[in-house]
Order: sequence, then structure tokens, then C-alpha cells
Amino acid sequence: MKRILLLAVGSLLSLTAFAKAPIVEKEFYVFDSSKEHLKKIQAIEALTVDHVSSRGYEVYGPNGTEEFLNNLNAKYLRVNAFRYSKALDDRASTGYPDFEDYTQILKDYAHQYPEITKLYSVGKSNEGRELWVLKISDNAAVDEKEPEFKYISTMHGDEVTGREMLYWMIGDILKNYGKDKRITDLVNNTELFIMPSMNPDGTTRRRRGNAKNQDLNRSFPDFTTPDNSNNPAGRPVETQAIMQWQKARHFALSANFHGGAEVINYPWDTARERHPLDGLVHDLSVEYAAPISSMANSSEFHQGVTNGYDWYTINGSMQDWSYYWHGDLQITVEVSNQKWPSFTAAQNYYKEHGESLIRFAERVHQGAGFYLEQAGLSGRVAVYEISKQLNSYRKGIKNLAWRTADNSLGRFGFDDSEFYKVLPEGEYLFDIELNDGTKKSLHLQVNDPLRGVPENGNVKKVIL
Ligand SMILES: [Zn+2]
Repeated sequence: MKRILLLAVGSLLSLTAFAKAPIVEKEFYVFDSSKEHLKKIQAIEALTVDHVSSRGYEVYGPNGTEEFLNNLNAKYLRVNAFRYSKALDDRASTGYPDFEDYTQILKDYAHQYPEITKLYSVGKSNEGRELWVLKISDNAAVDEKEPEFKYISTMHGDEVTGREMLYWMIGDILKNYGKDKRITDLVNNTELFIMPSMNPDGTTRRRRGNAKNQDLNRSFPDFTTPDNSNNPAGRPVETQAIMQWQKARHFALSANFHGGAEVINYPWDTARERHPLDGLVHDLSVEYAAPISSMANSSEFHQGVTNGYDWYTINGSMQDWSYYWHGDLQITVEVSNQKWPSFTAAQNYYKEHGESLIRFAERVHQGAGFYLEQAGLSGRVAVYEISKQLNSYRKGIKNLAWRTADNSLGRFGFDDSEFYKVLPEGEYLFDIELNDGTKKSLHLQVNDPLRGVPENGNVKKVIL
């Protein structure tokens, strides 16, 4: 028995010395309420664990995974076996538009609302499906100096509820623009980018991985592993497309949508240390979860939220990469316990999430930024919180003691002469330094956007 276990582990290890995207071809549900097997499974690089609960968790991997679970004496269910039974497929898929239907819906919206939409693709899946993004903003054709926000759904192809919600949300925003003040303010002062389907090949096959069975939410650079440089080479094509897109934009706040649980998961996923904006990202998560009864009243998660690492650690998640390399604060929304509910049930999720989807997007206005009069410049910005000091140094004393390690929120790169950052309410000092050494300091105020979305999102023009 022992020898077989070693062989099984050996074959798993040899498949992925250090994979930039683990293979998720085989799918299991492991019943393990005492978590006696969890650490041993997580220790195998080739295996992916997801959605740990008081009952157990999902385990994905290549050939050899089942032998490995057998040798652990784990109690499990083979998920693929019943997922792909035809009866279940037919029932679950009834009523869902397919990729071609949705492409047409997006084209129709872009045609019907040309002033406030721009439809484009940021790349293609392995099987040539476009990775569509719908930008919604006033003067959508122009890149205005406004805070940039994004939603991405369904990087796990079988977790479709979020994708449906984003399509319904797009329709609601477009139909209410110019009629509803809140929606109009949001669209006029924000650049919203919405990608409902990051893994259309996986969704078409009704499975987690892409066409090559790669797990996209384990495929991003990770600052705690050897795969710690922000380089797209060697990653799944969908991941590469997201990385190129993010590099070309200035997203400050975003969320990505999954299924298999009902909880908001906030960074970090990969490290025990707290995120530099831990208090803020926790509060934003609680605010998202609060109107949703299954989250607010969750018995598994206090207030319907969890720190990613505290739940179960993963490497290579999109939300960790997003902040660590791009300063784009991102949360992961686990929408529905059932990954592929009936189409009617999916609509009910949208009814519950609709308010939170808009509220979270409005939160991008809780921040501050600048753009330089001269285009095309890059450099770094050191951000200091001065609110606390302000109370003791009132009367406008511009004390250098504001610039301390205690008050520092970090240094961030910027290019294209633009920078914007979501921050807790308060007063801040931005020390801008261009690559040529030119320096400029800005004193900026960050307010709660629910008291009114600031015009152009609190982005100041800077003349050097
Ligand atoms: Zn997922």
C-alpha cells in the first residue's frame, strides 16, 4: 500500500514541477469534516483545493489523483461522473443563452447605446472565443480621466451565476442611464469595464478549467512562490490576456465572481500577513454581503466574509496578483452554493446582489488620484495617511513627521501620466516622483462616495 502511495504522489509531482497553472482534469468532492487530509492534499503542488466547508472540499488534479485519495483513505465522490450525466446537463443548462447568444446580446447593446458603451475583446481563448469586455461610461469612446473599475466573472467555466448577474446588471445600467440619478452619476464619473466570461471554453464544456484544463485562478504570478515575477509568458492564454489588459489600464477597484459557496473572500489568499488595506477591504466586503440574506446570516462565515488565507490558502489567485502588482484592490465573490443552478434560480441571485453590485462600483470613488498635464510620463507615488497626525498637528503645520513608516501605505508605480487609488476616508499626502527625478506633493481628501460621487472621481490635474 505504501509503495502505491509513493508511486501515485511521484506521478503527480512529475507532472507539475512548478506549474504556472495546475491541471484540473479530474474532480472530486472529499468528505473531511475534521480536515484530517487537507494538509496532505495541499502539500501536493499538482492538486487544487477549493471551497473548504464544515463538510469537506473540492479536490482537482490530473490522472493519479484518485489513487492518491484512495491511499489517504479519504472518503470522496467523483464529481465528473455525475456532473456529465446527460440528464443533469439537460436540466442545468435549460434556458441559458450560449456564447454566441451572449456575443449577439453584447453587440446589440453596443449598437443601441453607442454613446455610453464600447465593446471590445482583450484576446481570444484557446478555441478562438473572444474575451469580451463592455466598457460603460459617458463618452465611452474616449479614455477620460476618471476612476477605472472592473468586474470579471466565470474564470472557472462551470461557475456561471456571476456571468448571468453581470449580463442583467449591464442591461439595468444601460436602461436606467439618464433616468435614475444614481446610475447616471456612476456612469458619468466612472469608467466601468465588465467581462462576464473570462473562460468561455470552460463554460462551453461545463467545466472548471479552460480548453487545456488549466485552473485560471491558480495561474497568476504569486509573490510568495518562485513564480513571482509579473510576466505573462508560459501562462494560460486567458490569463495572459487579462495581464496585458490590466497593464494597459488603471483599475483601482474590482471584483471577480465564482460559485460553489456564498461568501466574499478578500486578499490575501496566499499569505498569513494582513493586506495593507485590511480594514478597508474587510469593510467593503461586509458592505457587499450585508443585503444578501444567505451571506449576512451565514453560519459558516461571520457577516458572510472571510480573509482568503484564513479560509484556505491558495497560490496564484487573480485578486492577490491584482493588488500586489497593480494596486487594484480586488475581492472574490462566491455567488451561489450551486455552481450551475437553474436559469430561474440564477435570476434570483441577481435580485439579491443587484444593490451590492452597484454599491461596490460606487466605492471606486472613495479614493483620490491625479493626472499630469503632459502625457506619457511614468514614475512612482508614495502614499501617506495624514489624518491621524492632523489632529495633533492642527493649525496647518506641514510636518515632515507625516512621512513615517507608520503612516505609509506604500509606493506605487504609475505610467501614462495617471494614478488613482482607493483608500479609507481621510486625508493623504501623495509624493509623486517622475522617472526623471521631478517631484511634486499633493494633499488630497478622500470622502465616502455615498455622500455624493465626486465629479470625475476626485482626480486632480497636476501641472509640473
Ligand atoms: Zn471559482
